[in-house]
Amino acid sequence: MGQMEQLKPYLERAMALQAALVLFEWDNETLAPEQAGKYTAKVQGALSEAYQEIMTKKEVRSLLEKCGQEPGLTERERAIVREAAEEYDKLEKIPPQEYRAYQELVAESARIWSKAKQEQDFEQFAPTLEKIISYQKRFAGYQAKEGQRLYDVMLDNYEKGFSMKKLDEFFGLLKEELVPFLHQVMEHGKEIRDDFLEGGYPEEKQRELAEFMAEYVGFDFHRGVLAESAHPFTTNLHNHDVRITTHYKERMDSSLFSVIHEAGHAAYELGVADELTQTFVGQGASMGMHESQSRFFENIIGRDEAFWEPIYPKLQEMFPEKLGDIPREDFVRAINKVQPGLIRTEADELTYSLHVLVRYELEKMLMEEDLDVRELPGLWADKYEEYLGVRPKNVAEGVLQDIHWAQGSFGYFPSYALGSAFAAQIYRFMKQSMDFKGLLRQGELEVIREVLRRHIHRFGKMKDSRQLLRDMTGEDFKPQYYVDYLKEKYGKLYCLK
Ligand code: ZN
Repeated sequence: MGQMEQLKPYLERAMALQAALVLFEWDNETLAPEQAGKYTAKVQGALSEAYQEIMTKKEVRSLLEKCGQEPGLTERERAIVREAAEEYDKLEKIPPQEYRAYQELVAESARIWSKAKQEQDFEQFAPTLEKIISYQKRFAGYQAKEGQRLYDVMLDNYEKGFSMKKLDEFFGLLKEELVPFLHQVMEHGKEIRDDFLEGGYPEEKQRELAEFMAEYVGFDFHRGVLAESAHPFTTNLHNHDVRITTHYKERMDSSLFSVIHEAGHAAYELGVADELTQTFVGQGASMGMHESQSRFFENIIGRDEAFWEPIYPKLQEMFPEKLGDIPREDFVRAINKVQPGLIRTEADELTYSLHVLVRYELEKMLMEEDLDVRELPGLWADKYEEYLGVRPKNVAEGVLQDIHWAQGSFGYFPSYALGSAFAAQIYRFMKQSMDFKGLLRQGELEVIREVLRRHIHRFGKMKDSRQLLRDMTGEDFKPQYYVDYLKEKYGKLYCLK
């Protein structure tokens, strides 16, 4: 029996445990009864320990090493071994007792964060955040290659090939170009009316719209489920079971665009090749590439005027009192309205990456300059004022708004902005090679989806995001395309120049 054949059962067991963990996470967010949490956590803990046990077995290490040297492996097998070896390294380098202590800290920290946020009291959360940061730095230290900076190690965990050097260029460009442009839009842009999007959209009607929209953009209900949760998300067991959620709010565009966004994530996972799913390369390439697909669906497809041509009458029919007298052009302008605000998850397309810029700069200071966490609330407010022209009145709408740091996710935020920029580069390429707007106008979204599947989805983790971009568009990542895209779209929308 070849080495690969011997390795396979271990990896299959590890993948099965992962799938079980994913299913519990999904259940916790959607259907699990309120009091289940503490008890189910034990089950999840046991599963996650079993996963770690398998992945750090001596046999697994020696098989991974041998496979790494075997010349006869296929490309697919080599990629699986590469990803599994990376996972092994990550798990093996952290001393188990430290890892357990950290897990307990993080399990507790979401509750502390949530209470501090509710009571608008940063001091309640500060000591926990300090501990999480110190663990994160230690773990990054274990993982670091010689000379590698700690924050670079963290960034690498979410987006390979995007170190501080690359991201400084990216965010520097956004700051230089988009901050003054936003100013111009707010000063000289034409008024846009969006009051009709709010209130008077009954939940059952919104649910009907969500299902219609998911189906319309190609979400496959034979291989997928749409449910409700506090924060919309997508998860998947494999490429035949991909699940998305939405939430229903007073503003109808909240659920509407959440559904299109999550359907974009889902298209990615549904499009992974059958021979890759349920392996270590059977998922989207990276956080950023995933976000590029969801944002492509949400913004580039879903907020385009041409997209609404065939379906806006249906919307008017569903909500006659609200939209009956609103022309399509006004609706499209409303769903694209720019409104600098304090909350990242509610941000419009133009200001979104500036929210991420604030987080990137602060994370960098925390990890590389030993910034005292107690300075975060003030710095956060200053940066919001400088880039977005708004200042939080309290920490709940400021530094405590996101759960990420409480979960130990440092280095995650940049991928949100990168995703939007990847999407713009992909869009630029597609526009040159097909009649993009014509397809939207005809409702032929499957043609667009098929191009994305062929160039991106089917490869899973076989290639990283930069490789995917290069192979698809013929160019390395070019952030200028993102800036150009935004300036062109919003310059036109706001009748600038
Ligand atoms: Zn997303």
